[in-house]
Amino acid sequence: SRPLILVLGDQLDVDLASLREAPPEAVIALCEAAEEGRYVPHHPQKIALVLAAMRHFAADLRDRGHRVHYSALDDPDNAQTLLDEAERLARLYGCDEIRAVRPGEWRLWQAMRERQGSALPWRLIEDDRFYTTPDDFAAWEQGRKSPRLEYFYREMRRRTGLLMEDDAPAGGRWNYDHDNREPLPEGIEVPAPPRHRRDDVTREVMTLVEEHFGDHFGDLAGFHWPVTRRQALADLRHFLAELLPDFGRYQDAISDSEPFLFHSRLSAALNLGLLSPRELCEGAEREYHQGRAPLNAAEGFIRQILGWREYVRGLYWTRMPDYKRANALGANRGLPACYWTGDTELRCLKRAIEMTRDNAYAHHIQRLMVTGNVALLCDVAPDALCDWYLAVYADACEWVELPNTLGMVLHGDGGLMGSKPYCASGKYIDRMSDHCRHCRFDPKRVVGDNACPLNSLYWRFLETHREALSGNHRMKLIYGSLDRMSDDKRAAMRDQAEAFLAGLETEPAYGRGEHR
Ligand code: FAD
Repeated sequence: SRPLILVLGDQLDVDLASLREAPPEAVIALCEAAEEGRYVPHHPQKIALVLAAMRHFAADLRDRGHRVHYSALDDPDNAQTLLDEAERLARLYGCDEIRAVRPGEWRLWQAMRERQGSALPWRLIEDDRFYTTPDDFAAWEQGRKSPRLEYFYREMRRRTGLLMEDDAPAGGRWNYDHDNREPLPEGIEVPAPPRHRRDDVTREVMTLVEEHFGDHFGDLAGFHWPVTRRQALADLRHFLAELLPDFGRYQDAISDSEPFLFHSRLSAALNLGLLSPRELCEGAEREYHQGRAPLNAAEGFIRQILGWREYVRGLYWTRMPDYKRANALGANRGLPACYWTGDTELRCLKRAIEMTRDNAYAHHIQRLMVTGNVALLCDVAPDALCDWYLAVYADACEWVELPNTLGMVLHGDGGLMGSKPYCASGKYIDRMSDHCRHCRFDPKRVVGDNACPLNSLYWRFLETHREALSGNHRMKLIYGSLDRMSDDKRAAMRDQAEAFLAGLETEPAYGRGEHR
């Protein structure tokens, strides 16, 4: 028998389960599909990254002696949807089976599963590039009241032995988060990210993307993503040597001028398969053991990958497809138009959107506490916001984007992922960033002309969702403050917030979500 092995754009790892088991007669297919590039308007840098990485990977497989078919976007025969193209190629090469590793989207997985018993059967293989499989996650969840990250993470530390000393966590604690909340000191220097050489393959892809997708939100000019394993390893080395030591303390900081700070920028390479989570976690652990990075930094970094990344994936695969329809707070506003233009007077929001446009990147706190928080406070519908996040970041894949956006940011899953919403007022932004000093609004004022809109929106959000949130013991204190305010003050704040919302230009709700 001769299988066709379909390798998807986020499976670019020579050690992929399907490639490890490939018989010599197998045909390996990599397919660019216009449909995948268009169903949300992906950032040109994201499309260029995926296509350049796929093309380099195909060349690498050929060098290793595999038989590879590469369907380019502008091949006249290209069926332009992944499944149809794979089946066309299987017939072309006389293959009797198509093998695929679990993709990063439920939609595709479901479609592949439906074809398992067809005349040209699909054989689906579990993805073992993660520390856990969806089945492992389901087993861990059995018998638990609520699947909290913290307990999942401890279990993962025990299982892997990462940062463990016998049976105890290194340093005696599981979590050093409280050391990881420093704002940036004045004038701190942030090491510049590595620049990679753009070879002919990358340049050709950039031209193609400019031609086909140049109308999408986002600039291509600042493209600096690693497109090969070698380049990704250079980024990893740079992170471990230059950034990890300060990763922890400034993990929550936001800067008006610096987009990357001490974050690794490794998510895109990781999600595409150019790096493995094990080499990141083991690399960070080694830096700690060799005395080059403090424990709070290594632990904070490992928790993001061994904890959060695996945890959101487990939630995704065990909850789909219902998860995508959840909207616990009944949010129904369309996406504010400024998310595509950056045209807003809120300086924090403006800079997060501009950095996203320039880099196809914003760090976690910008995604959570700026673009996320504004959307939460404005009752933006989960569909509308999810489509935006899926489109604009180079690292966006549905399995990781959806729980973060719908669950963590919008509390749309009713508190499955986060025990309370991450809502914040202007005061928070002022404490963690230098945006407010460049802003026309005053973070200390709640009502009046130059009051920061986040303040009144914050209190309005709490009032609006009192029924859903006030019973939460972590929200008691804040509802106490709200209740102690005079009726007049509450009314003035509400009016202020409603006036802001009335003036907010938004897209029609669900306008972009038709494919969902
Ligand atoms: P670092 O700060 O250096 O963190 C190290 C690594 O930890 C990341 O590379 C990433 O792999 C992992 N990680 C950190 N936080 C999370 C998290 N909350 N969930 C899963 N993994 C995490 N991450 C994606 O990879 N793809 C997405 O589509 C995505 N969408 C997001 C949407 C929203 C609304 C929010 C709040 C977060 C989202 N994240 C997503 C998580 C996180 O913001 C990014 O992984 C991170 O900003 C990537 O930058 P970095 O590599 O510099 O991360």
